[in-house]
Amino acid sequence: MRMSRTITGLGLAAVAALALTACNSGSPTDAGSGAAGGESEEALWEVATDVSLEGSPTYDAMVERDGVVIGVKNDQPGLGYEDAVSGERTGFDVDIARWIAASLGFDEDQITYQTIPSANREQALVNGDIDYYVGTYSITDSRKQQIDFAGPYFITGQGLLVAADDDSIEGPDDLAGKVVCSVTGSTPLQRIRDEYSPGDTVENDTYSQCVEQLKQGQVDAITTDEAILAGYVALEPDALKIAGDPFSEERYGVGLPKGDTALQEHINALLTDGGDVWTSLFETHLAPAGIEGEQPSVDE
Ligand code: GLU
Repeated sequence: MRMSRTITGLGLAAVAALALTACNSGSPTDAGSGAAGGESEEALWEVATDVSLEGSPTYDAMVERDGVVIGVKNDQPGLGYEDAVSGERTGFDVDIARWIAASLGFDEDQITYQTIPSANREQALVNGDIDYYVGTYSITDSRKQQIDFAGPYFITGQGLLVAADDDSIEGPDDLAGKVVCSVTGSTPLQRIRDEYSPGDTVENDTYSQCVEQLKQGQVDAITTDEAILAGYVALEPDALKIAGDPFSEERYGVGLPKGDTALQEHINALLTDGGDVWTSLFETHLAPAGIEGEQPSVDE
């Protein structure tokens, strides 16, 4: 269930495939209709036409405004990525979000994406700014005090990203005297501070800011989920590498407004019944970066 830690052997073709994915080729919604790999291929999903979801205030609000507002990331290649030029959104998480929207009767034209950083996710859901959130969002008990989750739909683990020529770090116990970068409000930042002893920590709003600082030599390592780190390595394998093995379990859920059990059950049923869609999205977006994994069962 864990992803592979071996990213260094990634072939050129795989890198090209990931770059292509990041540039929005092969998104299931290229044709705006859920057609995987472009217009010529069969649709991965249909936009549902006869939806009935009793007792979901979130769904009622979507129907009322005739659209869905989804919180996502925009700087995580392979997961949640926005092309700076075209504005096109791609990635495993973004397509999971689209698939859910389609299951509720909304097509791409009816989706509004909001890029929301890790630290602001719970508040965005509590405020009702978004209907749901799909973006490397680990299910935790502390978050569940404010919101609910559907899923998990993916499992990865916390890892370390270092410069490709750095052999001094092989795991979280090698961080004495090192400056480690992560993101405000994230579980990896919390864990590295609580359970390990880095020399210092630097926190940013986004992981891409950490990647820039690592490349500039301003920090020694980045810590977050390996699925995220693998996306950065795949784009710059000569500059970056993952160091060591994963040292946590991060179970990605779909963030939902607290108490919307009807929506939670709807999404869980979609995930449970949609193994073929899941596999296709995984193969398109994550496998090219060397990530391994299988679809987890949803929580009861
Ligand atoms: N999965 C972790 C979390 O939810 C780290 C990734 C992120 O910040 O989105 O905190």
